[in-house]
Amino acid sequence: MARPDSSRAPRATTCEREACPCGGPAFADCCGRYLEHGDIAPSALALMRSRYTAYVRRDAPYLLDTWAARTRPASLDFDDAPQWLGLQVKAHAQHDDAHAEVEFVARYKVGGRAHRLHERSRFERGEDGRWRYLDGDLLE
Ligand SMILES: [Zn+2]
Repeated sequence: MARPDSSRAPRATTCEREACPCGGPAFADCCGRYLEHGDIAPSALALMRSRYTAYVRRDAPYLLDTWAARTRPASLDFDDAPQWLGLQVKAHAQHDDAHAEVEFVARYKVGGRAHRLHERSRFERGEDGRWRYLDGDLLE
């Protein structure tokens, strides 16, 4: 005898899989690979997205680890960190094997007011094959 509810077995729902803050698919399949499993971001774009996600998650070790040594701050604190609302990538240009730029807009909220951070970030790839954030220009 068929059980009347068998067709309504619990389905895997999206709420079981945390969406990635960068706007990608599930965190585990997106930036989670780099933040939590130590995978190497294959492009400056992937690294940039993972760094945005690291800001959302306040993952200072990851941010420092993916920052070029010559521009990296000694430490990061999140005492005055804004609430990040979303990321929109505008452009990604890889100039050669070791240099790339990513232009993005990140929206955030401070004290109840929404703001936009529009930046063109520069990335470089070290001899270890890892992309790292170098610096950036604010565009507005
Ligand atoms: Zn992501």
